Amino acid sequence: MIEATGLTKHYGGTVAVDDLSFAVQPGRVTGFLGPNGAGKSTTMRMVLGLDHPTRGRVTVDGRDYRSLHRPLHVVGALLDAKWVHPNRSARAHLQWLARSNEIPAKRVDEVLDLVGLTPVAKRRAGSFSLGMSQRLGIAGALLGDPKVLMFDEPVNGLDPEGILWIRQFMHRLADEGRTVFVSSHLLSEMAQTAQDLIVIGRGRLIAQTSTAQFIKDATEDAVRVRSPQADRLRELLAGRARVAEAAAEDGAFVVHGVDSSFIGELAASHGITLHELSPQLGSLEEAFMQLTKESVEYHAAD
Ligand code: ADP
Repeated sequence: MIEATGLTKHYGGTVAVDDLSFAVQPGRVTGFLGPNGAGKSTTMRMVLGLDHPTRGRVTVDGRDYRSLHRPLHVVGALLDAKWVHPNRSARAHLQWLARSNEIPAKRVDEVLDLVGLTPVAKRRAGSFSLGMSQRLGIAGALLGDPKVLMFDEPVNGLDPEGILWIRQFMHRLADEGRTVFVSSHLLSEMAQTAQDLIVIGRGRLIAQTSTAQFIKDATEDAVRVRSPQADRLRELLAGRARVAEAAAEDGAFVVHGVDSSFIGELAASHGITLHELSPQLGSLEEAFMQLTKESVEYHAAD
């Protein structure tokens, strides 16, 4: 478990992290979501003792990172995949990491195998593609077999195959009972990867909830509808829902304020054929606007 309490970080006049409190639970993939500059990397660096909080604290399994004797056994992290000596082979890089943490050399081959890098273990890490570098970074994080793992924007720049591999690997780590904390600025990515979300904006906590609940709460119902009797359906919906004026090229239109089952039943009861009825996943931008608006209104009413 990772626990932050009143965690705050100032860089000169910039407040990077602002009174952040949250808990990341074991056995689940928890997404750390927020736009670029929200304070995700700074928070992760503080978890790892690479940055010192201005106020507050963050612990891993109840302990401060700096008090850990052999930290790689407690928490493993991938912050920057290119953080390797380019002339070292993948195996030499991991051997060096293992030695500095009193980890037996045979563990290096185990983690190379886990991430599928055994065939290229002798190649120079500097010649690796981004996807291979990410795997090497993950192998390094796994060296000490830690209960807690953190990944900072691990799928940035990866191809679909690489993204899928990372996503599945994270689920596997969580299924083994580990705490998996992964940051991203993309809600669509997190929606497919994380079961829980910690959402921040401008260094502050916006939400801590399950992914499904976050999307549901933060975005207005929006349903894409296509029907050969579109005009009739639009008439029926008028007054009960907000129907977008503009139709897409294929004749589809978006309905707000009612869910897909309401529209489906309304159409059925009037004998209207539907060619499409698809709830739209809200975008992160919408979610942020909605949540920020609410918090502004809440404070204004204080
Ligand atoms: P994220 O990872 O969510 O993109 P960061 O934690 O990198 O956000 O950055 C949060 C804020 O703190 C940004 O405004 C960034 O410019 C600032 N920041 C981060 N690291 C430093 C630093 N070492 N010195 C000064 N400002 C920093």
